[in-house]
Amino acid sequence: MCIYLISVFISDNMEVIMRHRGYLPTKERQVRSRLAKLLHERPLLIGSLVSMPRVCGKAGCKCAHGELHPGLYLSLRVGEKRKMIHVPQSLEAQVRQWVDTYQEVWRLMERVSEACCQRFFREKQRARGKRP
Ligand SMILES: [Zn+2]
Repeated sequence: MCIYLISVFISDNMEVIMRHRGYLPTKERQVRSRLAKLLHERPLLIGSLVSMPRVCGKAGCKCAHGELHPGLYLSLRVGEKRKMIHVPQSLEAQVRQWVDTYQEVWRLMERVSEACCQRFFREKQRARGKRP
């Protein structure tokens, strides 16, 4: 993290992204607009998918004798606890997409945060320069 911050600080001095103060750099604007679009249009789930063999519960099924079915679970955090919820095959593609959307939202937020971190260092340097 520390090394990352230092490299951001150094690269900030080498490239001037912002032409005018107050305008967002093009890249950051694109990232923010993609983020807003995802949040506006797509469902998302803060969770992850986990494959685990499962017992179906039907009497006389092979799984009752140890031959388990492949199963997919949605791992969700509910308050302090983690819950594993079985995902039926018919909903697998949809749930996968919702989880993927969350992951993309997270990656985009990280990029916005990186840009803001660079801005912070620029402002900090400017503030330091103004000090008597
Ligand atoms: Zn079974």
